[in-house]
Amino acid sequence: MQILRKVKYENELNPEFTSWLSTIPGGERVRECMQCGTCSSICPVSIYMDITPRRLMAMADSGFKDDVLQSFTIWLCASCYACTVNCPKDIKITDIMYGLKRRAIEEKVLPRRRFAIPILARSFVNMVKKNGRITESRLVMTLALKIGLLHLLRMAPLGWSLMRAGRLSLKKEQVQNKEQIKTMLKAVEA
Ligand code: SF4
Ligand code: SF4
Repeated sequence: MQILRKVKYENELNPEFTSWLSTIPGGERVRECMQCGTCSSICPVSIYMDITPRRLMAMADSGFKDDVLQSFTIWLCASCYACTVNCPKDIKITDIMYGLKRRAIEEKVLPRRRFAIPILARSFVNMVKKNGRITESRLVMTLALKIGLLHLLRMAPLGWSLMRAGRLSLKKEQVQNKEQIKTMLKAVEA
């Protein structure tokens, strides 16, 4: 039986990550977190997260870079801002979640186990870049091929209902002037 080591040593922490955190929007106040847990208790999706928002703030500030960037939490955050408006220390938790997600994308880090949300986000953006908009049925197919066809089979009844209701077109959707969209996206990314 494999025994997983739970202990972390100080020399495994990443001080560069802590310094970087203080430079992202909202990150400059994370050091003031008093670990009250308001954010975790009010977060509607914290029960599905592997690291609660309160714990994530402490881990990010301490330099647990790998654990933070590989967590499901940053991808599950629904950007509802409930934590941010209720934090007694005025810490911009939602903005920090975005910053962490951006860093994970830049470093091409994903959660250790296969997880649909980052793959969905990337496929969505690629499709918008190419066609100016997405075609839901193609997006679902791309996702299924990347995360496993079993998921597609599980989603089949839902897909069928959506198709019957006219909400899931098989026809490829695209805008008329794709070049304009490409130019706009290039300007945003620059
Ligand atoms: S609500 Fe604010 S102060 Fe309290 S644990 Fe969350 S981030 Fe820290
Ligand atoms: S913004 Fe994200 S972390 Fe904050 S309460 Fe909403 S879902 Fe939870």
